[in-house]
Amino acid sequence: MSHPHAAAKPHEGQFTCQICARVHDQPRAGDPPVICPCGWWYHLDNGRLVGAFRNPF
Ligand SMILES: [Zn+2]
Repeated sequence: MSHPHAAAKPHEGQFTCQICARVHDQPRAGDPPVICPCGWWYHLDNGRLVGAFRNPF
Protein backbone atom coordinates (compact mmCIF):
# COMPACT_ATOMS: atom_id res chain seq x y z
CA MET A 1 0.00 0.00 0.00
CA SER A 2 1.20 3.52 -0.60
CA HIS A 3 0.53 6.44 1.68
CA PRO A 4 1.93 9.52 0.01
CA HIS A 5 0.68 11.80 2.76
CA ALA A 6 0.24 9.48 5.69
CA ALA A 7 0.19 12.10 8.40
CA ALA A 8 0.82 10.75 11.86
CA LYS A 9 -0.01 7.25 10.75
CA PRO A 10 2.61 4.80 11.95
CA HIS A 11 3.95 2.20 9.59
CA GLU A 12 4.97 -1.22 10.68
CA GLY A 13 7.68 -0.97 13.32
CA GLN A 14 6.57 2.48 14.33
CA PHE A 15 4.27 4.00 16.90
CA THR A 16 2.53 7.30 17.44
CA CYS A 17 3.16 9.48 20.47
CA GLN A 18 -0.02 9.61 22.48
CA ILE A 19 0.62 13.24 23.40
CA CYS A 20 1.75 14.97 20.22
CA ALA A 21 0.96 12.35 17.56
CA ARG A 22 4.53 12.36 16.31
CA VAL A 23 5.59 9.08 14.72
CA HIS A 24 8.66 7.27 16.03
CA ASP A 25 10.45 4.03 15.32
CA GLN A 26 9.39 1.32 17.71
CA PRO A 27 12.23 0.47 20.09
CA ARG A 28 13.40 -3.10 20.39
CA ALA A 29 14.44 -4.94 23.50
CA GLY A 30 17.65 -3.44 24.83
CA ASP A 31 17.26 -0.17 22.95
CA PRO A 32 17.50 3.11 24.84
CA PRO A 33 14.20 4.89 25.46
CA VAL A 34 12.67 6.92 22.67
CA ILE A 35 12.56 10.53 23.77
CA CYS A 36 9.82 12.49 22.07
CA PRO A 37 10.38 16.23 21.59
CA CYS A 38 7.15 16.82 23.53
CA GLY A 39 8.86 15.49 26.65
CA TRP A 40 7.50 11.96 26.80
CA TRP A 41 9.76 8.98 26.98
CA TYR A 42 8.85 5.60 25.61
CA HIS A 43 10.51 2.41 26.70
CA LEU A 44 9.83 -1.28 26.53
CA ASP A 45 8.61 -3.04 29.62
CA ASN A 46 8.52 -6.79 29.04
CA GLY A 47 8.06 -6.19 25.35
CA ARG A 48 5.28 -3.71 25.88
CA LEU A 49 5.68 -0.07 24.93
CA VAL A 50 5.23 2.21 27.91
CA GLY A 51 5.07 5.99 27.77
CA ALA A 52 5.89 8.25 30.68
CA PHE A 53 6.75 11.88 31.24
CA ARG A 54 10.31 12.22 32.42
CA ASN A 55 12.83 14.96 32.59
CA PRO A 56 16.05 13.86 30.98
CA PHE A 57 18.05 15.38 33.84
ZN1 LIG B 1 5.28 13.38 21.72
